[in-house]
Amino acid sequence: MALVVQKYGGTSVGSVERIRNVARRVAKTFDDGNEVVVIVSAMAGETNRLVALAEEVCEFPSEREYDVLVSTGEQVTIALLSMCLQSMGYNAKSYLGSQIPVVTDNAHAKARIRSIDDKRVREDLKSGTIIIVAGFQGIDDQGNVTTLGRGGSDTSAVAVAAALKADVCEIYTDVDGVYTTDPRMVPEASKLEKISYEEMLEMASLGAKVLQIRSVEFAKKYNVIIHVRSSFNDKPGTLVMKEDEEMETVLVSGVAYNKDEAKISIFGVPDQPGVAAQIFSPLSDANITVDMIIQNVSHEGKTDMTFTVPKADCKKAVQIVEEVAKKIAASGVRYNENIAKISIIGVGMRSHSGIASTMFQTLSREGINIEMISTSEIKVSCIIDAKYTELAVRVLHEAFGLNSTESNKA
Ligand code: ADP
Ligand code: ASP
Ligand code: MG
Repeated sequence: MALVVQKYGGTSVGSVERIRNVARRVAKTFDDGNEVVVIVSAMAGETNRLVALAEEVCEFPSEREYDVLVSTGEQVTIALLSMCLQSMGYNAKSYLGSQIPVVTDNAHAKARIRSIDDKRVREDLKSGTIIIVAGFQGIDDQGNVTTLGRGGSDTSAVAVAAALKADVCEIYTDVDGVYTTDPRMVPEASKLEKISYEEMLEMASLGAKVLQIRSVEFAKKYNVIIHVRSSFNDKPGTLVMKEDEEMETVLVSGVAYNKDEAKISIFGVPDQPGVAAQIFSPLSDANITVDMIIQNVSHEGKTDMTFTVPKADCKKAVQIVEEVAKKIAASGVRYNENIAKISIIGVGMRSHSGIASTMFQTLSREGINIEMISTSEIKVSCIIDAKYTELAVRVLHEAFGLNSTESNKA
């Protein structure tokens, strides 16, 4: 008997008929002799609807109340899935994050899981019950409801799989695996049979929303193999796992894009020790993650700095930076929300040169201007005008031979 953790995303539970489909899959896994713990997301579009309601009420909703509101979507789906299974004759029981409990820190809207109590779940499993857990949510040590950031049900699933030492962690979604790029944007994208944790981490953090980044961090830390697959067919999906030798022979395994960042520039910054800390400490105190940072060469004791933040935090960040700008006598602050980050990812880059220059040439051939660049051992990212996103992804996907896996071998 294996312990199987399955997670079903928003589209997979997007209607009553789809919830019934999920119930049939869960029931089949149980009938095959497994213990089953299921994590579900809210119905497709529901979390967006709740976020929009909050924004309608006020511009900067209290983060505590935001979490109370947006966590409700998952409460609906766990109950409906349990009811479906019960009506099919199975013992099923739903749990909110707070009932397990899934304990997190108190960083509302982007909380991190600290611990998961497995006691209740294990007892229920022993009695032949199928457990349905609300994804995306937890509780802090003061009893406040928290949420894990958009797409956080993936992280709930991997964390539950790690806590229960599950044999399998399956993430069921609306595509049948991880592709070389978003298959909805580039139909020629190829499905990857397997991908290393490192590459998947980069892909996720660079915009491939198929898995939330923290779920991959968790999987890597606790050595959970994730199987990403479709809830609409039985095809094998993609295994997210430890790197093996075969993976290193591929130069570029994927192209990712992210249109959820904004660029903020602060001009005429006095070029003195400590100014960077003065700018970025208040941002970090406000829990705003800064991604790329560029500091220009200084001219007459002044310099310009440009950095990117999540678009959702842009207004708040601009407010903070404008205050700092006054304090340090910088000359001005500007921001741009119409940018996209385009990235190429591959562990093979560690041992091969020329990848970045191919990327730059490819973009330049299309007349796409590069506004910022950042690199790591296994990725190169460029900030460009958002209107060229699709074109950039397509030409890079083609330039690195990702349409045909054969021409992608080193
Ligand atoms: P779920 O609601 O099941 O969590 P998501 O919408 O969060 O599903 O993630 C699945 C989506 O991720 C797909 O529909 C696809 O458009 C998108 N996606 C982006 N990049 C990739 C990629 N490289 N491989 C597969 N899917 C990707
Ligand atoms: N429902 C949440 C969201 O839309 C969590 C998830 O689906 O993973 O972000
Ligand atoms: Mg998702």
